Amino acid sequence: MCVPGCNEAVHRALSRRSFFRGAAAASAAGFAATAVTPALAQRSFQSVVDLTHIMSPEFPTFFGVPGIEMEKKYDFKKDGFNLNWWKIVEHAGTHMDAPIHFSENGATAEKIAAEQLVAPLAVVDVSAKAAQNVDYALTKQDLAEWEAKNGRLPERCCVAMNSGWQQHVTNAAKFVGKDAAGVMHFPGIHPEATEWLVKERSVVGLAVDTLSLDPGNSKDFKTHYTWLPTGRWGIENIANLDKVPATGATLVAGLPKVKNATGGPARILALV
Ligand SMILES: [Zn+2]
Repeated sequence: MCVPGCNEAVHRALSRRSFFRGAAAASAAGFAATAVTPALAQRSFQSVVDLTHIMSPEFPTFFGVPGIEMEKKYDFKKDGFNLNWWKIVEHAGTHMDAPIHFSENGATAEKIAAEQLVAPLAVVDVSAKAAQNVDYALTKQDLAEWEAKNGRLPERCCVAMNSGWQQHVTNAAKFVGKDAAGVMHFPGIHPEATEWLVKERSVVGLAVDTLSLDPGNSKDFKTHYTWLPTGRWGIENIANLDKVPATGATLVAGLPKVKNATGGPARILALV
């Protein structure tokens, strides 16, 4: 969509850009033919892995209602452009929990510093245990085993639980695991492990590949209450943790900067 004056501004910007491109090409010609392009030389990672599920009304949610509704307000054929209006649940799909989600005065989404949204990623694989026990809660022992293999958790890292639950994401009944009494069953993080991370390590965020930081059968949400009020964030329904190494990747969380939001759907990436 272009407001009045926009075409001229775009034209000016494009002319400027082609000027700089020309200048860059001229100076690059002075280097040896084998030199890589400057953009690639500066890249400190080999690939980008998308840790985000596709959001749609069908994606399983904690409350059992569609996490997003989309209404087409403008149509290209009729109006010359496409535009939808969304109505979303803040905590649906791959999303972040801001500290305010489980505290009275914690930071809202827009107040989480950009610095906090980029972190070394530590992936703890508990998928074999979760395959045996749908209520599995990641323990201190799992963290100790991770450190025995990979060294101490990196400073200001994100600890992510890979429970293998992603394989059930297209089967909402299994992903949510609701039983006849209405209790949900999926893996999460044990409150004691959470408390240990708060006290003993430097961790900015927790991530899980299930609907909640707490296991589905939790009644007290103790991991949420232990974690978020300390000013740290959470990510739920993270994807593709099986495609990143246990250590060495960098997580980038693209959380929408919405005033007073308690979290929100986010594009989560891993630089590997
Ligand atoms: Zn949430």
